[in-house]
Formats: sequence, structure tokens, C-alpha cells
Amino acid sequence: MTTPRKLAAGNWKMNGLEAQLAEVDTLMATHTTPVCDILLCPPATLIDRMARRIGDGKIAVGGQDCHAAPSGAHTGDVSAAMLADAGATHVILGHSERRADHGESDDAVRDKVAAAWEAGLVPVVCVGETLEQREGGSTLAVVGGQLQGSIPDGATAATLVVAYEPVWAIGTGRVPTTEQIAEVHDFLRDRLSQRMGGEGNGVSLLYGGSVKPSNAAEIFAVENVNGALVGGASLKAGDFSGIIDALE
Ligand code: PEP
Repeated sequence: MTTPRKLAAGNWKMNGLEAQLAEVDTLMATHTTPVCDILLCPPATLIDRMARRIGDGKIAVGGQDCHAAPSGAHTGDVSAAMLADAGATHVILGHSERRADHGESDDAVRDKVAAAWEAGLVPVVCVGETLEQREGGSTLAVVGGQLQGSIPDGATAATLVVAYEPVWAIGTGRVPTTEQIAEVHDFLRDRLSQRMGGEGNGVSLLYGGSVKPSNAAEIFAVENVNGALVGGASLKAGDFSGIIDALE
């Protein structure tokens, strides 16, 4: 049986100029032989510089989105092949901010996942309910639909990471109870196993939404939580380090 890899992933969102890369130096110095995988997803402008700075270091670099097409007349967009060419190994897809700000549908995310695979990138596919959907009792229906619709057939444990990110917990300081996290992660694991067989048991399932050093250990103790996708707390090496330590 495939065991999911532990992964601490940072999403810098639209934050970071050159000077921000000093945080990466600190992280590398602190985690020379990490026992979990570490991924940083800076804005596209920093991918190449971050990847070069890391060199043979133990931190992977990812994009925050990609276009579904390999190239073409799509002003302002970046393709999966371009991310890979810049040094990325992963790409976040279907983040709720992309779904909300850019109207990305499950179909659009699915096409991007296929493009990521084509370019050799591992997609970190995000699913999560709004507060209204949770209060309306449709959390599992929502995340189940997003999972089914956003991931093409053919995924393996090595080519897919899934992040459960309740929209109402992102950047708000509000965190679901461990029971709520467990319910969704168990559900996602079941769905992945139904669809992918044994491979589904090996997919890393991340929790994301206001993860901090102070709550990370409690979240990581939940079964079927294999790591975190971290926004705000990934911008400071000290904070992100505390989360990595809790995962190790
Ligand atoms: C995110 O943007 O994916 C996220 C989880 O943000 P934060 O950790 O800031 O809530």
C-alpha cells in the first residue's frame, strides 16, 4: 500500500519581491535534511530566481496557476511548460481565489491539471466549501463534486496532491474543528480510493486555512491529514518552520 508523503506547501499568493527570497535562505539553513517534503509557490516572477537560489536544496518550487494551453495568444497567462522551464515541479490549481476572482470552473481546473501533467508538474488541486455551503449542510457534496470534476482520469499517488481549503478559513483566522477536518479528509480519501484504487490511498491530502505554528500539530494529528497548504504563515521563515517542525 502506498503511504502518502508528508508535505508542507507555502502559497505566497501575490506577495514577494526579490528581498523576500531571504526567507528561503533561512528556511534552507533551518531544514537541511527535512523528513517531510517542502514546497514554496511564489508569484510567477520569482519562480526562476527562487529555484536558482535553492539549487540542490531540499525545497521544491511551484506555480500558483497555469493556463491549460501549452502556448499561444493568451496575454498575461503562463503555461505549465513555462513554469517547469522556470524551475517549478508543482502547481497549485483551483485555489478558491482563482475560482472566485477568475470564475474558474471544475472543467477549467481539470484542463489545467491535464496540462500540468503534460508538462511533468504535480498539481496541488484545491477544493473547499464557502461558509454558506457549510451552514447549508452541503460541504461534502460541494467538495465531492469539485474533486470529481477537477481531476481527470489517470491520476496516481505520485502525480496528484489534493488540498482541502474551506473558503471561510482562508486568511480569516477561523479554523474548522478537528472533527470537521477529519470528516472531510476521510471523505476525500474514500472518494480517491473509489476512483483510483490503491493509488488513492497514497495521494497526499493537505489541509489549508489559517494554519499557524500554534495550531499545526493539532491539525496534523488528524487522520488523513498529510500536511498543509499555508498562505500567510508561509511568508515568514520562522512561522513556516514552526509548521514544518510540527509535520516532522
Ligand atoms: C491559502 O491561501 O491557500 C491559505 C490557506 O491561506 P492562509 O493560510 O493565509 O489562510
